[in-house]
Amino acid sequence: MAKTVKTQRRDFIKYSTLGAFGLALAGGVGLSPYLLGDETRLRPPGAVEEDDFLALCVKCGQCLQVCPYHSIKLADFGKGHGVGTPYIDARERGCYACSAVPCVLACPSGALDHSCEKPEDIKMGIAVLEFPQRCIAITNTPVPKGHSQRIHDFLKDQRNVTELELENVKKLDAFEGKQCTICADMCPIPNPLSAIAMVPDSKGGKRPEFYDGCIGCGACEELCPANEGAIVIKPRLSYEDYYVKGKKS
Ligand code: SF4
Ligand code: SF4
Ligand code: SF4
Repeated sequence: MAKTVKTQRRDFIKYSTLGAFGLALAGGVGLSPYLLGDETRLRPPGAVEEDDFLALCVKCGQCLQVCPYHSIKLADFGKGHGVGTPYIDARERGCYACSAVPCVLACPSGALDHSCEKPEDIKMGIAVLEFPQRCIAITNTPVPKGHSQRIHDFLKDQRNVTELELENVKKLDAFEGKQCTICADMCPIPNPLSAIAMVPDSKGGKRPEFYDGCIGCGACEELCPANEGAIVIKPRLSYEDYYVKGKKS
């Protein structure tokens, strides 16, 4: 983890230097393309409203240092505004909703709100079956051999892989050759049925359906074995926002 923080810090400094140079060339802050990016990111558990988050986060990296799943990254200039702030790239690594939410406890600034004390308090976003055509459960295709290689490769890049991560990937490996229910069965919250279930699909297979207990942790997006993934987390949207009111972002 120390290696990750150091690398991300190094990238941050590198991009900071390039960014400052870019600003000079552009003739001022107002013209910098780096500051115009406005991508909605998935923030760690407990993140307060985005504007307040950007104002409060002191970019110390404490949250990512305590995460036992290596879920949190620090944003660089290539990611638009909020340079140095923590975020989660769910397809690379989701959050696993730790029982005591250590990332929140570690945050010294209030950017991650300490009233978020347990998985049920987490509200990062909502999961959506964005690409149903990719879902292999709908077509009754068994989970292919080597489906978890991407996750093994991710772990190979970490210096201090934790027992929790090893247990998790072992459980994932066991789906090989079976009907895919990975998103539903690997959902890490205490009551996964409140968030997701496999339901019959009109094409004869099954598909995941999401409910209002989904916290948007992104584990299902990460672990989906479909090519490029079938599930996408919509950051900062609730079940009601997306599925009832039809809000898309
Ligand atoms: S809840 Fe756990 S897995 Fe999720 S970001 Fe925080 S420390 Fe990492
Ligand atoms: S369905 Fe479960 S794994 Fe997927 S985002 Fe929601 S809570 Fe997380
Ligand atoms: S993990 Fe879920 S969404 Fe992905 S292929 Fe399997 S059943 Fe479909």
